[in-house]
Amino acid sequence: MWVKKPHRVSCCTVCLAVLWFSQTTALRAEWFNDERTLMGTQVRIELWADNALQARPAISAALAEIARIDAAMSVYRDDSEVSQLNQHAAKAPVRISAELFELLERAIGVFELTEGAFDITYAAAGVLYDFRDAQRPDEQALGQALQSVGSQRLLLDHGSRSVFFSQPGVRIDLGGIAKGYAVERATAALQRRGIHHALITAGGDSRFLGDRRGRPWRIGIRDPRNLERSAALLSIADEAISTSGDYERFFVEDGIRYHHILDPTTGRSSQAVTSVSVIGPDATITDALATGLFVLGVTKGKNTLKKFPAYDAIFIDRQGSLHVSKNVSKLSD
Ligand code: ADP
Ligand code: MG
Repeated sequence: MWVKKPHRVSCCTVCLAVLWFSQTTALRAEWFNDERTLMGTQVRIELWADNALQARPAISAALAEIARIDAAMSVYRDDSEVSQLNQHAAKAPVRISAELFELLERAIGVFELTEGAFDITYAAAGVLYDFRDAQRPDEQALGQALQSVGSQRLLLDHGSRSVFFSQPGVRIDLGGIAKGYAVERATAALQRRGIHHALITAGGDSRFLGDRRGRPWRIGIRDPRNLERSAALLSIADEAISTSGDYERFFVEDGIRYHHILDPTTGRSSQAVTSVSVIGPDATITDALATGLFVLGVTKGKNTLKKFPAYDAIFIDRQGSLHVSKNVSKLSD
């Protein structure tokens, strides 16, 4: 029988291969990044890792976390947990996941502290708008919908971990908080994989982990009336920033800008300011608070912010002037 001689690999060849591998792909600390469309926006992750073998699974885990949260909390999917809640909770209490229960509690907490400006039940009125098709409700429809707005109509029961809507017509939409929450959770997923320097940004919500290796991250706040321009530049490390602006989804009719941030007391787009950015430790709160402070405007917004000592805000008013809460030092030249 003819036996093929095993191919002999010399020690030297192995050493050379390892050296090549380490120098080209896997074993070099550097910045890695990736992008994906999730939650209706472009999600971008940038991180510093020891090598690609650490970076790639970390990025995948962070993106998977955002996709998972979107699947549970989107109102654009009929099978999401939130859509199920909207369909059934006015008939009987609906038991929900611990994660959604906790997020609803936090949303209600921000509702109370902003005296109703941030309100996930705004959706009863919100659903009557279509910003792409320039559709808005008439006075009568709006008046009717407003009777179902108010987070006090969400009855949460800890024991059974269930939610009951106190009347028909109530519905929730987590559009003002879920993206920030997802970004925060995705950041935690990176941390669990030993990442110490990273940026996750999803539309108006960004979370910075650590600094940019020895220097802060730099981020621009868009000029709401000239989106190519920055109205302010910030230096940030280890914090989140969320911006709510009237330029994201809107249409103009008779000189009035109808946009996606509604004042829950009127059901109309808030005209108080053109943009609010909130900076602080948790992206869930910066997201919700940016939306709430947008509704409140500069004076009431600054007062409300006193209840959130770890958070700062930058308002841009309708004349284009900047109003900063207290930590002005964060603004770069
Ligand atoms: P985005 O980053 O998607 O532009 P924002 O954080 O600025 O979102 O919040 C706007 C979104 O929040 C809206 O698209 C809507 O889903 C929701 N929303 C609008 N008005 C309110 C409100 N008063 N309270 C809570 N959520 C709101
Ligand atoms: Mg928000």
